[in-house]
Amino acid sequence: MSRNLVIVGAGAGGASVAAEARRRDPSLEVTMIERGGHVSTAACPMPYYIQDLIKDEKMLVARTPEEFRESGVNVRLETQVEEVDRRQGIVRLSDGIMVPYDILVLGTGTVPIVPRVPGVDLEGVFMLKTLPDAMAIKTYIREKRCRKALVVGAGFIGLEMCEALRGQGIETELIDLAPRAAMMWDPEFTALIEEELLRQGVKFHPGTGLESIEKGSEYQLRLNSDRDVLEADLVLIAIGVKPNSTLAAAAGLRLGATGAIGVNFSQRTSDESIYAVGDCAEVYHRISCKWTHIPLGDIANKQGRVAGINIGGGAMMFPGVVGARCFKVFDLGVAATGLDENEAAEAGYHPESVLLWGNAIAAAMPGEKKLGLKLVADRSTGRLLGAQAVGLRGAVERVNALSVALAAGMTLEEIGYQDFAYSPPFNTPWDLIHVAAQKLAKSIGR
Ligand SMILES: Cc1cc2nc3c(=O)[nH]c(=O)nc-3n(C[C@H](O)[C@H](O)[C@H](O)COP(=O)(O)OP(=O)(O)OC[C@H]3O[C@@H](n4cnc5c(N)ncnc54)[C@H](O)[C@@H]3O)c2cc1C
Repeated sequence: MSRNLVIVGAGAGGASVAAEARRRDPSLEVTMIERGGHVSTAACPMPYYIQDLIKDEKMLVARTPEEFRESGVNVRLETQVEEVDRRQGIVRLSDGIMVPYDILVLGTGTVPIVPRVPGVDLEGVFMLKTLPDAMAIKTYIREKRCRKALVVGAGFIGLEMCEALRGQGIETELIDLAPRAAMMWDPEFTALIEEELLRQGVKFHPGTGLESIEKGSEYQLRLNSDRDVLEADLVLIAIGVKPNSTLAAAAGLRLGATGAIGVNFSQRTSDESIYAVGDCAEVYHRISCKWTHIPLGDIANKQGRVAGINIGGGAMMFPGVVGARCFKVFDLGVAATGLDENEAAEAGYHPESVLLWGNAIAAAMPGEKKLGLKLVADRSTGRLLGAQAVGLRGAVERVNALSVALAAGMTLEEIGYQDFAYSPPFNTPWDLIHVAAQKLAKSIGR
């Protein structure tokens, strides 16, 4: 008898499960239920769509509902799953229909954090989470001939949006409660990010809290903060997300300490017949050796495929992540992996670090080449624990190479003489990675 696979949420995670499980086991009856009007949309390129580097929103859809249906997946759009009844093995939908499952997958993503201040529901105030959000922002910019924008939140989405808005010729200011932009990175690196913002005409207001938004006089909206009164035609709020785990919690599934759904390495939840994937689920951090919540698209894709393989009859473990992440802000590449010193100390290591500035490519080559690299390692073992890089070129490549070193458990001595392909337009014979690893190894007496 064929099994019923029901998937809640058709984002990167849920859609990956549907595709993989159905490919492996064509006898599965697969139903994917999505409360929005799209499936399999890529959120990551949305700032570049708003900037109009990507012209057509269809480019943000990896696979249409029709394509899923042709492959035998039943897709229900604009339908919310309101309850999971584990005892009976059914989900209750917003239209009152009950759908039975043998296997259930939760891929419910995150919900944006909305500040509890007056005026967040005014026309011209946006959050950027879904494709309809991105389309509404792009339309609003065009139709209202938007002249000025305020971005609230200097995390990676806020920073990417500063670039997108400036690219549309819009005067842009950025506010954040924190004293620095991109607080996860070291002060020396965030100073470079803030310099870049200034160079590109974005005024940054650190240590500034949003208090209310109201109708403006010179522009459409007025933003009252605890420091300034600012006006603009558009306000974008990007102050973070939290795991969308309410359905799981109501069904009595185990949540982790992060509030995301607790899973094992097969992506199973505390209920054998229920899996969770993507931003709503926890992920194992291979360096801190803790379950954590890192809402990123590449992780959602991998967890979705692993769950799909297991549901489809295979056996696959997702070993977890090392915490690699990156973004671009105007001309700067910003990347990090592993742990910073505080996280490393919390995880029981004895962290030491080095931060170096050098050249991404050979000094004799023309063009911008300034690159900053920081390494964190364990004093007792010499093992690499984390890295950060910021520069006009080469930051992401260095961090990706170091992510492999982290996953392999490499020491500074090994990294200091690691064989990297070399040619002047790409790097230097002693790459900044070699130099930083050797310097840190020496400073901890190895
Ligand atoms: C602007 C932006 C830029 C980003 N850039 C990057 C990047 O550069 N790199 C990167 O790695 N990540 C990036 N991300 C994060 C990435 O998009 C997410 O990690 C990824 O989309 C997570 O996929 P998911 O399937 O877990 O969740 P989602 O894609 O959020 O999908 C969850 C789906 O579940 C549906 N749903 C929720 N509850 C229910 C319910 N009860 N019933 C029915 N349907 C439900 C939702 O409508 C949604 O469609 C970015 C995100 C944004 C917003």
